[in-house]
Amino acid sequence: MTEHPVLVLNAGSSSLKYQLLVPESGDVRAGGVIERIGESGSDVADHAAALEAMTERLRSDDVDLDELQLRAVGHRVVHGGPDFSEPVLIDDAVLDRVRDLSSLAPLHNPAAITGIEAARDRFDVPHVAVFDTAFFSALPPQASTYAVPRDLAEKHAIRRYGFHGTSHEYVSQAAADLLGRPTSDLRQVILHLGNGCSASAVRGGRPVDTSMGLTPLQGLVMGTRSGDVDPGLHAYLAREVGLSLDEIDTLLNKKSGVLGLSGVNDFRELEDRLEAGDAAARLAFDVVVHRLKHYVGAYLAILGGLDVLVFTAGIGENSTTVRAAVTEGLGELGITVDPARNAARSKQARVISPDGSRVVVAVVPTNEELAIARQTADLVG
Ligand code: ADP
Repeated sequence: MTEHPVLVLNAGSSSLKYQLLVPESGDVRAGGVIERIGESGSDVADHAAALEAMTERLRSDDVDLDELQLRAVGHRVVHGGPDFSEPVLIDDAVLDRVRDLSSLAPLHNPAAITGIEAARDRFDVPHVAVFDTAFFSALPPQASTYAVPRDLAEKHAIRRYGFHGTSHEYVSQAAADLLGRPTSDLRQVILHLGNGCSASAVRGGRPVDTSMGLTPLQGLVMGTRSGDVDPGLHAYLAREVGLSLDEIDTLLNKKSGVLGLSGVNDFRELEDRLEAGDAAARLAFDVVVHRLKHYVGAYLAILGGLDVLVFTAGIGENSTTVRAAVTEGLGELGITVDPARNAARSKQARVISPDGSRVVVAVVPTNEELAIARQTADLVG
């Protein structure tokens, strides 16, 4: 076969997700995750060891990475800062620039760099970086600009970058395909609801607004992240509680959101508690839904109307309850779901609004690995 696969890597600080797939057909040869990298008691010391563990695992599944002639490796990189609005072929200069962006994404970019370095040592093929911010680099200035002094913003690259861009771009195209209409015709709101959550407004295939900002902390309520709070909260916590900036950052990123409100961060567990009548779970769920409605309404106004509302990622694709709650009471805006369609379980992209609705409500599975593999293959030719 001439269809050589692309290896897609997503390196976190203690985990390495991988998938081996053929971009043209979408055929997934293998995939998985190596966890507990560098943790005490783990026999995976670093990302180089993780790649060896991955190679071994693939071999035991009869996939020999050295024999099958990899076409390229595609790396997910969270923050492309102001420099990267497209996927790039990785060389030393690119790696240095990604390293320079670490101050904008201290939790994410250093891990990606470690993963890229180990993978370049291991696989002598082209390596491509695909940035989570790239799609949103085309946001119009009124959406990407924070109302802070302009010289400060310019000097320190302060703006709304947006994240999950690979997913929002893929899903907006897939939703248009589902409807058999070109993206150029459509005003879409995409709700990417996973462990991290973000909303976007997309017109004609181009981003018009998104809920995440300078960092992936802004916007929707997430598993452990607060999303929007009054920016004055930071100063208040510092003065009243005596927390340091790092402590506040950790509080809002790791201990807030659904976890901070209910004690659990996994949405399935939250729904179990909701069913059992747990009051904290009820409030957490209501806060999540209220914030979602807030963004749907805002984006409908910014788009001047809406053609498609799309749910994606773990919660968006699977939670009938969230989809019903977010769309409830929006009939006047043309947004309704058919209860039976909403409740039907499927792995396929599907419409859940009644036939003839003004706004099509759809569930569209995201596939960031496939999107990264395709962008990687396009770049290396
Ligand atoms: P990530 O952002 O890490 O890629 P996912 O997109 O896989 O995460 O989403 C994970 C979230 O999806 C978790 O909160 C999980 O509980 C939730 N989820 C997965 N399946 C269901 C389900 N059947 N019902 C409700 N939530 C679900």
